[in-house]
Amino acid sequence: MANIDFEKFSKYSKAGPRYTSYPTALEFSDAFEYGEYIQYLENSTEQISLYVHLPFCRSACYFCGCNVVFTSKEEKLSAYITYLKKEIDILATHIDTSREVIQFHFGGGTPTYYKAFELDEIVTYIKSKFKNWSDKAEISCEIDPRFFNEEQMKVFAKHGFNRISFGVQDLDEKVQKEIHRVQPLELTKNAVDLARKYGISSINTDFIYGLPYQTLETFKKTLELSTQLNPDRVAVFNYAHVPWLMKTQRKFDETTLPSPEIKLEIFQYTIDFFERNGYKMVGMDHFAKPNDELFTAIKKGELHRNFQGYTTKGGANLIGIGLTSIGEGSHYYAQNTKNMKAYEASLDAGKLPFERGVNLSDDDFLRKAVIMELMANFSIDMPRISQTHNIIFEEYFADALEELQEFIEAGLVSINDGKISVSTTGTLLIRNIAMPFDAYMHQHVKSKKTFSKTV
Ligand code: SF4
Repeated sequence: MANIDFEKFSKYSKAGPRYTSYPTALEFSDAFEYGEYIQYLENSTEQISLYVHLPFCRSACYFCGCNVVFTSKEEKLSAYITYLKKEIDILATHIDTSREVIQFHFGGGTPTYYKAFELDEIVTYIKSKFKNWSDKAEISCEIDPRFFNEEQMKVFAKHGFNRISFGVQDLDEKVQKEIHRVQPLELTKNAVDLARKYGISSINTDFIYGLPYQTLETFKKTLELSTQLNPDRVAVFNYAHVPWLMKTQRKFDETTLPSPEIKLEIFQYTIDFFERNGYKMVGMDHFAKPNDELFTAIKKGELHRNFQGYTTKGGANLIGIGLTSIGEGSHYYAQNTKNMKAYEASLDAGKLPFERGVNLSDDDFLRKAVIMELMANFSIDMPRISQTHNIIFEEYFADALEELQEFIEAGLVSINDGKISVSTTGTLLIRNIAMPFDAYMHQHVKSKKTFSKTV
């Protein structure tokens, strides 16, 4: 990667979406009604991707941006299983359950806060309703190594789990203390070894840069140590500091957060580090070994981005199950309520706990295709988009192309033979480069309390 003038570069640091969806969650509202959601569920014919949200955690990691319920009460966890089953029952009345399941993901919270027999109970129940699982289904779980044992792993093996994502974040002791997540390398290593012992072929580790007390030097050490885990994929996320949304983030002394310049330096080093160590960059924050299916997907133009990051299963209909979970169809997003009482009340009344969402307009649908292509492949094939969507790209996106000029002049973007391409250095600013194509951005530019910083 070219040498970067970090000071100059940091001027691009501004609030911007991560584009795990388009339109972003800020546009979700109750204008998208329950009946419309049900119609989508009933009429969809695509393969199915199931996401099950298990929201409970024992204690707060202060950086966390997830929707979490902190508890030590076992009865809360078991009551939630009862409600998950009710939700699955109702979903099964609206979905053709003979459709093929090609992806299943347990997210949280801490899914492995549940005991082995409870995890077994949940997966078994889902399988009793959705019976047609592809042999090639990607079956995965997010795991906090501090809550993971062999009994749970046996359940995952029994149900054919083949991908596990371990939260690591940082391996520096001081940083770990500050973020309230003390997790020695040895503990993570044991968890990874356990998963490998039971045949998990794809191990992912998650890291975060931008946390308190991180410096280029501390993060270099973290990366060096992380090689002991030998992950197949690595995600290195930019910490999203949104204290107006997440109370626990207010515990951080903001003066200890690394500056945009340092963050850029850390991420540039991270990219070089993984390339030196046999990985290739995928999308804006993932790295994988060159034989990973993600690269085949890039070549075929089939790499997609969704709420779980980058995926090769983009054409599937994502069904969100559980508190706060988000579902996605080609023309809609639907989110469940974030409130446990409301979640239970809906299900007791025989209704899905759907709260809000968005029905994509033709313009949303087109912009989603453009933004997701940019986020996944770092390029846009203008003639192909024009043909698929029956538009003249240069005319439809004249404003966006004008806004891109700034990046073209800086050498971060180029346009040749109808293709918009982002340079390797430009990938550090991919969120900024996608923003001109976002029709909703101008509504949010004045408000400071929307998105996290892009840099
Ligand atoms: S990072 Fe994971 S374990 Fe920590 S509070 Fe958030 S969801 Fe829970």
